[in-house]
Amino acid sequence: MDQRPQDYLFKVVLIGDSAVGKSNLLSRFARDQFHPNSKSTIGVEFQTKTLDVEGKVIRAQVWDTAGQERFKAVTAAYYRGAVGALLVYDVSRRQTFDSVGRWLEELHTHCNMNAVTVLVGNKTDLEDTREVSTAEGRILAEAQGLFFMETSALDSSNVTAAFQTVVEEIYHIVS
Ligand code: GDP
Ligand code: MG
Repeated sequence: MDQRPQDYLFKVVLIGDSAVGKSNLLSRFARDQFHPNSKSTIGVEFQTKTLDVEGKVIRAQVWDTAGQERFKAVTAAYYRGAVGALLVYDVSRRQTFDSVGRWLEELHTHCNMNAVTVLVGNKTDLEDTREVSTAEGRILAEAQGLFFMETSALDSSNVTAAFQTVVEEIYHIVS
């Protein structure tokens, strides 16, 4: 791990329906690993990774639900102190995109309007079975005042960029 003293520590939460790829986005970002058959069993609570933003050392502490979302019970403790969120859906399952509004309500209940949020359409490698277009994602993000990105935890595209975006935007608010 990067041992330089940090200038900032930001808590970022991953939210979104079960099986959209939250845990794999985090493992790809933090350890460059992908798990083809990951089960949403008990996982680690969070992982940290150091990023450079405009010469500052920023430690992103990214929290994973570890499967709690299956039971509709992501706890208040999970959200406490979060300054950023990645709200993830699966571009190959429209149902997960339809859930975005509910996740936003939950986020706003726990974090007011203060958490910088990136809407993330994951699994772009599944182009053949895509059910949600890039344009739809972008339009929803604009309507809700969210940043927007499409990613693939499988082929790595835009994964670092998604986390970098949330961290940079938080930095711009706090600095
Ligand atoms: P979570 O429940 O949101 O944490 O989702 P997981 O990270 O456990 O992923 C659920 C399933 O989707 C697993 O079988 C993963 O291998 C798979 N998966 C995750 N990300 C991607 C991706 O970008 N592309 C594809 N094709 N599969 C993915
Ligand atoms: Mg998971």
